[in-house]
Amino acid sequence: MDGLDSSAEYIGASCHVSQTATTFIRLPHVSYTLDVHADYYHFFNMDSSPTIAGFKYDCLLFDMDDTLYPMSVGLNLACRKNIEEYMLKHLHMEESEVPKICLDLYRDYGTTMAGLKAFGYEFDNDEYHAYVHGRLPYEKLKPDPVLRSLLFSMPQRKIVFTNADQAHVHQVLNRMGLEDCFDGIICFETLNPPNYTSVPTDNHVGSSFSKDCNKVESGRFQSKTQILCKPSVEAIEAAIQIANIDPRKTLFFEDSARNIASGKAAGLNTVIVGSSDLVPGADHALNSIHNIKEALPEIWEIEGDQQQMIQSPAVETMVLA
Ligand SMILES: [Mg+2]
Repeated sequence: MDGLDSSAEYIGASCHVSQTATTFIRLPHVSYTLDVHADYYHFFNMDSSPTIAGFKYDCLLFDMDDTLYPMSVGLNLACRKNIEEYMLKHLHMEESEVPKICLDLYRDYGTTMAGLKAFGYEFDNDEYHAYVHGRLPYEKLKPDPVLRSLLFSMPQRKIVFTNADQAHVHQVLNRMGLEDCFDGIICFETLNPPNYTSVPTDNHVGSSFSKDCNKVESGRFQSKTQILCKPSVEAIEAAIQIANIDPRKTLFFEDSARNIASGKAAGLNTVIVGSSDLVPGADHALNSIHNIKEALPEIWEIEGDQQQMIQSPAVETMVLA
């Protein structure tokens, strides 16, 4: 989350895992050489993906903030306030300029954090996340047994793909009672491991803040920072490689219109969440993630035999409750 709008998450977090293997991912068309450690992504069922032959989709990729819960919870706004406070108190920016710089960097670099790094501000990633996420009013998030039952009823692999840090992901999923609903989590630390180095793709460091460097062009957000995050297509392509998924067989759920556009550019099937209207690049629109069964029954249907819908444990749970 980024605290700026529905798309604004700070790249993803994941669960710590005891594996020691290191996976090197090279993206040939960008300057990044990702050194993605197994410590920063966790696939609970790496070797036990469900058999889903016959289904239209074999993987469901979920953004987290403002997608698994509604923006009306208020975490987004609180996050933005924390970010602006961090810029004021820790980076000693001029108070009157902070809101505009915060918004400009978010828009131009994907997240305010990524923009600050690109402009040469040096700060510890963990300290930043602790300040902007660690002080969020998490008590506003409540357990969501309906969503939990829906997730468990879906036969596909389910992966969280967020810009937020892993501590934030743990907080959100645990508060919502969803911590065991996913097969994997891709987060900030997954794409930006602590010892990773990269070369900025341009020389904006030291230049003035401006609005003219918005790189959302033709549906492709061009990364130009040291931080890899949505909405860059490179970040989404990295997540696709890490999770080893076929984008043509994957549904990507997102509340951010620009992340949807990048997801489509990366070849994913896309679902805009939190809106009943389609946005550019969206294949489906969901007002709420709770409407998923009505809007996307094909998740539970075997192709060519729509009578054979899988019985949803969600229904049974709700009846019993
Ligand atoms: Mg979001």
